[in-house]
Amino acid sequence: MSKRDYYEVLGVSRTATVVEIKKAYRKLAMKYHPDRNTGEGGQEAEIRFKEIKQAYEVLSDDQKRAAYDQFGHAGVDGAAGMGGGPGGFGGGASFSDIFGDVFGDIFGGGGRGGHRHHRGADMAYNLELSLEDAVKGTTVKVRIPTQVSCETCNGSGAKPGTNPRTCSTCGGSGQVRTQQGFFIAQQSCPTCHGRGLQIDSPCPDCRGHGRIQKHKTLSVKVPPGVDSGDRIRLAGEGEAGENGGPAGDLYVQIHVKQHPIFERDDANLYCEVPIPFTTAALGGDLDVPTLEGKVKLKIPEGTQTGKLFRVRGKGIKPVRGGAVGDLLCRVVVETPIKLSDEQKDLLKKLDDSLRGGGSKHSPNASSWLDGVKKFFKEMGF
Ligand SMILES: [Zn+2]
Ligand SMILES: [Zn+2]
Repeated sequence: MSKRDYYEVLGVSRTATVVEIKKAYRKLAMKYHPDRNTGEGGQEAEIRFKEIKQAYEVLSDDQKRAAYDQFGHAGVDGAAGMGGGPGGFGGGASFSDIFGDVFGDIFGGGGRGGHRHHRGADMAYNLELSLEDAVKGTTVKVRIPTQVSCETCNGSGAKPGTNPRTCSTCGGSGQVRTQQGFFIAQQSCPTCHGRGLQIDSPCPDCRGHGRIQKHKTLSVKVPPGVDSGDRIRLAGEGEAGENGGPAGDLYVQIHVKQHPIFERDDANLYCEVPIPFTTAALGGDLDVPTLEGKVKLKIPEGTQTGKLFRVRGKGIKPVRGGAVGDLLCRVVVETPIKLSDEQKDLLKKLDDSLRGGGSKHSPNASSWLDGVKKFFKEMGF
């Protein structure tokens, strides 16, 4: 593979001053820095970054630049060749030296040797609610296990009086680069597991983790109208961050328990109401339950089983707004049992009377029987 011209790489002219070269390098290095190109195209960016760094190494050094101007790449190969030295970042000055020089003023004194501040993990808590609480809203105290910053070591993980030191494997970056052929892989440092720090004397309370497991009690305000699957986010109530990083969030996930009477369907409530067959036949008033108490439901004369009655506005006001739903009551006509002889006699008399009236008393049965007769005829039974 032929090497690109170093002036071309940095996008400067052959007569560029040191200041111009430095400026061009800074701009390009910021753009292609591996820390900023961790997603797709990261490998390509890393290759570009390396190329940019090599060009800068040569052109920012008077002697190397003179040699390059006179002999081209042959004049400086070995001083900034591909793939020499640890981590694949080539001979001469180390990666962090170059970086510290140019980036020191951007990232502040210590260059990029700063330790990684990991945000704490998000946590989920399953909250079981009764239907009533979910509909009316409530405040619940929940006790959750959580990782909190260790007070003994102030989260450093080091025994009080000692300090963690910068990891010698990764130089504090938490990442190591390994070169495989032409490609460079970046992975979490195996020595410090990405923390960038090594602890020689671990804190006795947290055993070097900097965090300890505790329980905390939180007051969770549940707004009215929530349903199973809704979740409430409590910002910053998740796990503590590492090395002073921000805490994660806590997600309270709502599970509404089954109700003995009502079933919920979005904003509507649904229930089944058994009614005596006499009420179904004669009509009457029925007390039906709602979440706010009883309401009267008028059953008209001649009500069939399975009929659905709608009680407007006795459902649920959804948490995300919208109209209050309805209560839907399905009546189920109940057959009387454990009849006395007298009651049976009365029913037989009623039955004779009804049969005398023909099909008009049982419209469904009559039309059904007509259908069956027609079917038998067609089938030739
Ligand atoms: Zn500790
Ligand atoms: Zn390390």
